[in-house]
Amino acid sequence: MLKIFRPTYHAQSVYDIDINFYKKHGFKNVIVDLDNTLDSYKLFEPSVQAKELIKRLLAAGIDVFIISNNHSGRVNRYADSLHLPFLANARKPFKKRILQYIAMMKIDVAKTVLIGDQLLTDVVVANKIGLSVVLTEKIVQEDQWTTKFNRLFDRPIRKHLRQKELLPDWRN
Ligand SMILES: [Mg+2]
Repeated sequence: MLKIFRPTYHAQSVYDIDINFYKKHGFKNVIVDLDNTLDSYKLFEPSVQAKELIKRLLAAGIDVFIISNNHSGRVNRYADSLHLPFLANARKPFKKRILQYIAMMKIDVAKTVLIGDQLLTDVVVANKIGLSVVLTEKIVQEDQWTTKFNRLFDRPIRKHLRQKELLPDWRN
């Protein structure tokens, strides 16, 4: 299996990961995907659990950035409600826009973990850049059509990784 698809860690959900995980690994920054990682693409405002998660991370001294392939209208509104910096139209799995953003925000790659629900976008771009990455399962069933297409490839690769025990649990 190509290394580019292998996440550093796996979690059922971003909401399962406790603060000690970040401390243990020295992660000072979290780059988090929006759709189906934090909330459904149908939700325009952050859920209560998203708000609480962000509050907990910031209180622990961890900076949070939202990086999404979705359009700026959607991402802007959502991130603004959380008072978080963000990058919309990120074009994952291409690394150019994210590298520019990382440089602009002076994000230390070695102290950063990316968290996302998709192998073909989130995991691949993190591996290209050399970021640690937590792959999650999607939090709701519904996906946008572009994501549905990616899932056709994501599903068998994920299954293969699971069978080969290449989805290390975040607790380990
Ligand atoms: Mg997503």
